[in-house]
Amino acid sequence: MEALRRLIREVPDFPKPGILFKDITTLLKDADGFRAAVDAVTDPYRDPRPDVVVGIESRGFILGAAVADRLGVGFVPVRKPGKLPWRTMQATYDLEYGSDTLEIHEDALAASQRALIVDDLLATGGTAQASVALVKRCGARVAGLSFLVELTALEGRGRLAGERVVAALQY
Ligand code: AMP
Repeated sequence: MEALRRLIREVPDFPKPGILFKDITTLLKDADGFRAAVDAVTDPYRDPRPDVVVGIESRGFILGAAVADRLGVGFVPVRKPGKLPWRTMQATYDLEYGSDTLEIHEDALAASQRALIVDDLLATGGTAQASVALVKRCGARVAGLSFLVELTALEGRGRLAGERVVAALQY
């Protein structure tokens, strides 16, 4: 895990002043690092295995698709508004200033499916909370959430009460 931590680049004041951005591109381009990161996000959910992985745009696609392949299950994207071509369901969540919306295809999940939600990083939890809401609105169940990084000071877990939340690296 310490090797993984060293592969993540920290970029101060991106995308705006005061944010210390965790840049995982330096990890993704490292073959051993990428494999270890996908293992770390996958392994807690091998048994029982979820039925499907839901990945959050956009870094959640990179990790989530690899996790789904490891588990031998399908992949469902949660995207920013206007990107998905078919009928969607939407969830809007609050940001520090303003709000944001995420979408899922309304037929993406079957009612009985247990979905694992994957993203690169848990910060305030707004993105993850909206994704949980979308999965449930589809009638599916949430098997849990898996992140590569958790910024614990922002207490994102608090918005995910009742769900299993796993993060490989905590800061
Ligand atoms: P939040 O909704 O606050 O939990 O933010 C999580 C989403 O924003 C994830 O999709 C992350 O990729 C991104 N994000 C938030 N804060 C950071 C950060 N410090 N470094 C990298 N990505 C971040």
